[in-house]
Amino acid sequence: MTAEIIDGHKHAQILLDNVAGELDHLSCAPGLAVVLVGDDPASHIYVRSKIRMARKLGLRGETKILPHSVTEDELLSVIATLNAQADIDGILVQLPLPAHIDTLRIMAAVDPAKDVDGLHALNAGLHGADSLVPCTPLGCLKLIKSMVSDLTGCHAVVIGSSNIVGKPMAALLLEERATVTQTHIHTRDTQFICRGADILVSAVGRPGLVRGDWIKPRAIVIDVGTARVARPEGGYDLRGDVAFEEVVQIAGAVTPVPKGVGPMTIACLMANTVKAAKARSARLH
Ligand code: NAD
Repeated sequence: MTAEIIDGHKHAQILLDNVAGELDHLSCAPGLAVVLVGDDPASHIYVRSKIRMARKLGLRGETKILPHSVTEDELLSVIATLNAQADIDGILVQLPLPAHIDTLRIMAAVDPAKDVDGLHALNAGLHGADSLVPCTPLGCLKLIKSMVSDLTGCHAVVIGSSNIVGKPMAALLLEERATVTQTHIHTRDTQFICRGADILVSAVGRPGLVRGDWIKPRAIVIDVGTARVARPEGGYDLRGDVAFEEVVQIAGAVTPVPKGVGPMTIACLMANTVKAAKARSARLH
């Protein structure tokens, strides 16, 4: 028996179609601003694809590119300007930021109502209908729920405990009444813990970490990991955390890398931007 491959593109398109439908009911196109610091090539690729998708959908997308040497105060001033701009509904600061900048301080400076990445403490603490939920975990949850609508009592294991993926993922699964175990680099016996998981989400960035014998038969496996592995002939491949050829033999469903979680992250960013625009418009009228 081989697992169902969860098609991230297909699910992302369904979400994007819904978002496009919601745009028809808005009086003006929502504005998304992405702030990019430095010249990390991967971050530039991610930001370009976010802005491209925003424009394709009919949103107004703009990128603020700042040099690696930007000071924290200069970055805070850019964010303050975007917070005050009436035509900007969503602000995303692309992570990671350079080491000399305090990421938490920057996240705290974004207006929570425009925080479409869901990383401001107010949003991070809520995870409810009224808050903005981080895009990647939100996308993962949508993929999980496309396979099993009621997570009550399921054992969910999240490998990785970052603020941007692991922690909000665990919180969302808990909200869905799953029993959640979170593991991280210092966890002992990760493999044993994973074997009990009905739902396994891996967000680490170590290709091939999750082996076939870590998987409970018929489990749903969501692979968030995205590592660039150099090809001998030049260029690179994107690899997930999951040893796909092994896991696909045991799991009930698994996301591929690429074309799994990635497209859902961008689609959720669009959905969050429209959600933020609608909430702001409702407050103004
Ligand atoms: P991070 O480096 O901030 O966190 C990694 C986590 O993995 C940490 O909690 C760490 O303790 C844990 N970890 C490290 N080694 C481990 C091990 N051997 N066993 C168990 N846990 C271990 O990374 P992040 O920002 O959370 O991202 C995780 C991965 O997800 C990365 O590959 C990133 O590129 C990818 N990602 C993908 C998307 C997407 O849209 N597809 C979005 C965000 C992040």
